[in-house]
Amino acid sequence: MKAYKTFTVIVVIIFMLLMGGFATIRYIDLKKRNILNENYKLQSINLKGKLFNEISRKKESTTDIAIGLVSVPGLAQKVIDKDVPLDYYGKLIQKLKKSKAYKNAWIQIINKDGISIYRSWTAKRYDNLRGFRKDLDKIFKYKKSGFSISIGKFDLSFKTIMPIYKDKSFVGIVEIISHFNSIADNLKNSGINSVVVAIKQNERQLQYPFSKLSIGKYYVANINAPLKFRNYLKKNGVENYFNDSYKVENGYLIVSYPIKNINSKIIGYYIMFKKPSGIQNGNFDLFVFKLVSIILIIFLSLIVAGVILFLFILKRQKEHYRNIIDSSTNIMITNNMIKTTDANKAFFKVFSRYSTIDDFLAENECICDFFVEEDGYLQKKIGEITWLKYILENHDKEHKAKIHYFGRDYYFLIGASLIDDSTNEYCIVLTDITKQEVYKKELELLTITDPLTKIKNRRFYETTISKEMNRAKRHSVPLSVIMFDIDHFKNINDKYGHDVGDEILMSYCKLIALLIREEDQFCRVGGEEFIIVLPHLRLENAIKLAEKLRKTVEQSKEIIPITISFGVVQYIQGETKEQLYKRLDKALYMAKKEGRNRVVVGR
Ligand code: GH3
Ligand code: MG
Ligand code: MG
Repeated sequence: MKAYKTFTVIVVIIFMLLMGGFATIRYIDLKKRNILNENYKLQSINLKGKLFNEISRKKESTTDIAIGLVSVPGLAQKVIDKDVPLDYYGKLIQKLKKSKAYKNAWIQIINKDGISIYRSWTAKRYDNLRGFRKDLDKIFKYKKSGFSISIGKFDLSFKTIMPIYKDKSFVGIVEIISHFNSIADNLKNSGINSVVVAIKQNERQLQYPFSKLSIGKYYVANINAPLKFRNYLKKNGVENYFNDSYKVENGYLIVSYPIKNINSKIIGYYIMFKKPSGIQNGNFDLFVFKLVSIILIIFLSLIVAGVILFLFILKRQKEHYRNIIDSSTNIMITNNMIKTTDANKAFFKVFSRYSTIDDFLAENECICDFFVEEDGYLQKKIGEITWLKYILENHDKEHKAKIHYFGRDYYFLIGASLIDDSTNEYCIVLTDITKQEVYKKELELLTITDPLTKIKNRRFYETTISKEMNRAKRHSVPLSVIMFDIDHFKNINDKYGHDVGDEILMSYCKLIALLIREEDQFCRVGGEEFIIVLPHLRLENAIKLAEKLRKTVEQSKEIIPITISFGVVQYIQGETKEQLYKRLDKALYMAKKEGRNRVVVGR
């Protein structure tokens, strides 16, 4: 299930990365296209500018020629006389053909009545052009020089018109007609291919196109239009290229320029084909960029997938070890010198009010806060050093801790070892030895307890008296001891039986135990002989206590009345256990000797 989730996360992240990557590529692609389009636009404007320049040059040069023509003296009279020789401009035209600006030029002279009186290209003359030539009315009205593009019978032509005057009176016009061929030639030198098309407005108008070529409904107005581009336009529909904008097709920037007549009416289109600069290069850049981006994205995706997988494996491994630690019945915790930082499941079986280490730490700082101060067990501080340091410094020793938690005592064997130098963290293992410890304590108690009376036995007395004598000696505190023996107990046994004797022993022991202090040690040292060790008690108080006990027993009606004889001594600094016992025994002996049921002080 977890593996499935991880897989899903990896797939989603890779998918998102890929999407992001492709979106970026798409964005940059678009940006690049925008830049490219801007570039095309500029190039198309540049093309149109070039064409415009060519047309202007044509206008200027033809105007110059026209001025030259009308300035020839005698021309006006020849016009009035309708007598211009047939080869009047023959030489001039030959000359013009050789110049760069003209592939061909035609000259016509029309008199003020609209009669053509000279045509350089034919002998035909004296026909009236008015009515057929719409522009003539305008020209005759304003009698000014002019430049226009128009469609005639033969072609789409440039016309430069210059008025002829005789003594300030208008006699006619000279007209120089030329075509687009030279412009197309000039542009070709700049790598621009041209196809000029003329709109066929009516069948009558353009009857003998110079090029003898057509594209669909349109005539081709430049004789040098390359076949390749004519065919291209034919195939794709020439009308599709008549817009003001530009097209990039087949590796060519295609720009069209509308040709307008004197009335601003579109009569044709100049279509230019040029290989745009920078296209190939741009495409190549984009391709390499995409390729590199895709490789990068895939590479990045693989790295991300790898990292996620690595983290997943790491997490699995961590969980695996955590499970092992949690399955341990020993408590395992991590601790720095001050506080507990982590714990396994076994820990929370003892500290059952908490379910996480954070819960525990919210109320406590360290497991050592629960150590019970008792002899033989580890304490929070041993002198000046902390418990943890103490364990680490005493590795060879066995350490036990008693923990009191929620009304229960637990005993543990405790060991520690360093796990991380940098964080100063230690692993502490606590092995539960509660059962063994309790059993051991019970056994210990058994060995120092008298089975009949349940008070301490002689063995205990022997260790206690030594300990208390030492303490009294070391701290110069008083220590008194009372010894007593039941009077004529043999008789009681004889009279009532041994069982009754036992019961008497038990019940009087209980009675006496009630009358002594908690710190006093009450021991059965013989059959019906007892010693009470009284720490911190002076002789006079010990005597008082013995007297109290004697009286209580005497007055008691437990089963059957008995009396007891007492010997009392106070420990003398420097004396031995044996010497003390001897004095005590002697005092008791004296009590018996003096008549029993009495207290005698041993000296
Ligand atoms: P005295 O006043 O001189 O002490 O006389 P006594 O009879 O008490 O003499 P002694 O102290 O020498 O006697 C000890 C007797 O205590 C012997 C024995 O019958 C009895 N005795 C010792 N241990 C037990 C016991 O555990 N149970 C019973 N029932 N009697 C015991
Ligand atoms: Mg006795
Ligand atoms: Mg006795």
